[in-house]
Amino acid sequence: MKLISSNPFEIHEDIKRVRYVRDLDQLENIPPAEREKLKKVSQRYLFRANDYYLGLINWDDPNDPIRQLIIPHEEELSDWGELDASNEAGVTVAQGVQHKYSDTVLLLCNEVCGAYCRYCFRKRLFMDDNDEVTNDVSEGIQYIRNHPEVTNVLLTGGDPLLMSTRRLVEIFQLLRDIPHVRIIRIGSKMPAFDPWRILKDERLLEAFRTFSTPEKRIYLMAHFDHPRELTESAVAGIDACIRNGVICVNQCPIIKGVNDDSEVLAELWERLSWMGCPPYYLFQGRPTAGNKAYEVPLVHAWQIYQEAISRGSGLARRAKFAMSHATGKVEVLAIDEKHIHCRYHRALNPDDCGRIMVYHRDDDAYWLDHLRPVDGMGATRFGSAASTADLAENEIEVLGQV
Ligand code: SF4
Repeated sequence: MKLISSNPFEIHEDIKRVRYVRDLDQLENIPPAEREKLKKVSQRYLFRANDYYLGLINWDDPNDPIRQLIIPHEEELSDWGELDASNEAGVTVAQGVQHKYSDTVLLLCNEVCGAYCRYCFRKRLFMDDNDEVTNDVSEGIQYIRNHPEVTNVLLTGGDPLLMSTRRLVEIFQLLRDIPHVRIIRIGSKMPAFDPWRILKDERLLEAFRTFSTPEKRIYLMAHFDHPRELTESAVAGIDACIRNGVICVNQCPIIKGVNDDSEVLAELWERLSWMGCPPYYLFQGRPTAGNKAYEVPLVHAWQIYQEAISRGSGLARRAKFAMSHATGKVEVLAIDEKHIHCRYHRALNPDDCGRIMVYHRDDDAYWLDHLRPVDGMGATRFGSAASTADLAENEIEVLGQV
């Protein structure tokens, strides 16, 4: 098997069954001395890829974006950020169950991904001593059953499409037996990493037809980061989802060296809109441990976003630029010479929804917590709320008012 090519598209479009690669020594295009250095990184943050995805790399280009996305980087060992940068632990109501916004529950039901994105904000889940994920969703199902306000359930992890179809069907059925659950979301990068996971599995497509109904849809929250991932097979994978009743949208972070370029983002979003998988969110990267090499300062990221959404049709410009902050989803609305203007698009404290926040402009800042609020106009600070229901019992204050 030849894993590596500078002209991969001709070779890998007909793979149909990917082969996983976990050992950096299998990457012969990387010189042995460099591989040795990178092994120290992969001992801390796992490396996993497959022959199809590695085949998208142009190994002649040291700055190749797909390479940056999947191959470890020495800077990952620098001391920067936290493993749980947006305090997911604070909204965990049971093992593998997160409840942050009243209508949506996350089930972290699988701790493996098709490959490991180097910039992942959940890389802690792939570490040996982490137990935040559970394949046993019974506690989560019971929690959702007991919370009639929950209309959306996001299957995530890890990547749910790495689970067996039999298990996925069981979970779909359990959720469809709860009348108040309307939308089942599947957060997955498998259309990018291994489109044949969808294309070759007739039972999965049948499950989509069965459980995605006119009034209660399944949504695929796809994760394409770069137009080079939109191969013929990836497009066919999304098409198979759509033809079998699944609504597709795309969300991705802005990643240094991958898509921190307005032309790249504009092309990605335009092509996604043509495919029927329009952009939904562009996320500012959370300040996660190991991710310094992949992060873009907030002001620069917003400028790139602004340029990108000035191109293409309205459907290609639907992405909101937001930070998934511990206190809510904070949309960046505008940046002028002196200030950064934000709004809570979603908020842990429901009273904050829609609230405008204003910060002093800082071109070196990466995250909301790095910014200095204009008096009384900052984000909410709160104690460790286990869920939205617990908020009233927690101290809530507005940064900048105190
Ligand atoms: S697919 Fe998602 S969860 Fe998995 S490594 Fe990539 S960003 Fe992380």
